[in-house]
Amino acid sequence: MTQMNFTDKTTKVAIIANGKYQSKRVASKLFSALRDDDSFYLTKKNPDIVITIGGDGMLLSAFHMYEKHLDSVRFVGIHTGHLGFYTDYRDFEVDKLLDNLHSDKGEKVSYPILKVTLTLSDGRQLTSRALNEATVKRFEKTMVADVIINHVQFERFRGDGISVSTPTGSTAYNKSLGGAVLHPTIEALQLTEISSLNNRVFRTLGSSIIVPKKDKIEIIPKRLGSYILSIDNKTYTHRNIAKIEYEIDHRKISFVATPSHTSFWERVKDSFIGDCDS
Ligand code: NAP
Ligand code: MN
Repeated sequence: MTQMNFTDKTTKVAIIANGKYQSKRVASKLFSALRDDDSFYLTKKNPDIVITIGGDGMLLSAFHMYEKHLDSVRFVGIHTGHLGFYTDYRDFEVDKLLDNLHSDKGEKVSYPILKVTLTLSDGRQLTSRALNEATVKRFEKTMVADVIINHVQFERFRGDGISVSTPTGSTAYNKSLGGAVLHPTIEALQLTEISSLNNRVFRTLGSSIIVPKKDKIEIIPKRLGSYILSIDNKTYTHRNIAKIEYEIDHRKISFVATPSHTSFWERVKDSFIGDCDS
C-alpha cells in the first residue's frame, strides 16, 4: 500500500457509480486520472468531494451514504443516460470535470433538505433526512390524518397519502402529483396531496401548499395499522405511528460550484421542455 503525504491542498475524492456498463467505464476513467494526480486522493472515507456516476437515483443514494457528513462534503454528478436533474456533467465530459476540479477553490452551491421525525405510539422517535421528498401512504384502507401547519389544525385529510418535498425535490414525485416547481433559493417545503377524497362530507384544500422555513408541518394519523413511508428512493413500513413532523433541516446539501453547475431554470427546461423551437 502506498503511503500518502497529505497536504492541505490534497482533495479527498470518492467515486460512486451505479452498475450500468457505461457508468463503470466512466468510473474507471476517472479513477485512473485521479489516482495518478497528486492533488487528489481517492477514498470513500470522509471525502471532500463525492462524484456520482449514473442518474439522480445514484445521487440520492450517495446523499444518504454521506448524510452525516453534509457539512464537509460537496457533491458532483455525472449522468450516464438518465434524466440527470442533479447531475451537471454528461458521460463524455469527464475531461471537462477534471479541468474544473483542478481549478476548484472550494466554492459551493447549497440547497435545503428535509428533516422528518417519526414518533411511534410507544414514544420512540426516528429521524431521517430527505433530499427529494418524504411520503406517507396507507395501503389497507383510506388514510385519515390530521394535518397541522405551524400549530394550526389545518384539515382532516382523507385519501391515499401525503408528500412533503424539498425545493429541489419539487421536480420529482411532487411534480407528478400536480405540485409546483419551486426555485431552491426559496427555503420552503411543499405539501402535496396524493388522491384526496373531496366531496360534500370530506374536505381538504386540494391544491399543494408551500410552507416557509419557520413553520413545521405535522401529520397525525387517525387510524391504527400499517403505513408506508418513503424517504427519497427508499420505503419503510411502520405500524402505530403517532405523529410525523416535517421541517427544513439546519444543514444543506452542497454541490461543487463549477462553471457547469447549470442554473435551476435551465435544468427544469432541459428536463421537461427541451427545445423551444420545435
Ligand atoms: P426512479 O424510478 O428512477 O425515479 C423516477 C424519475 O425521477 C427518474 O427519471 C429520476 O431521474 C427522476 N428524478 C429523481 N429525482 C429528481 C428530481 N429531483 N427532479 C427531477 N427528476 C428527478 O427512482 P430513483 O432514481 O431512485 O429516484 C427516486 C425518486 O423517484 C423519488 O425521490 C421520487 O421523487 C421519484 N418518484 C416519482 C414517482 C412519480 O413520479 N410517480 C413515484 C415514485 C418515486 P434519473 O432517471 O436520473 O434517476
Ligand atoms: Mn433513477
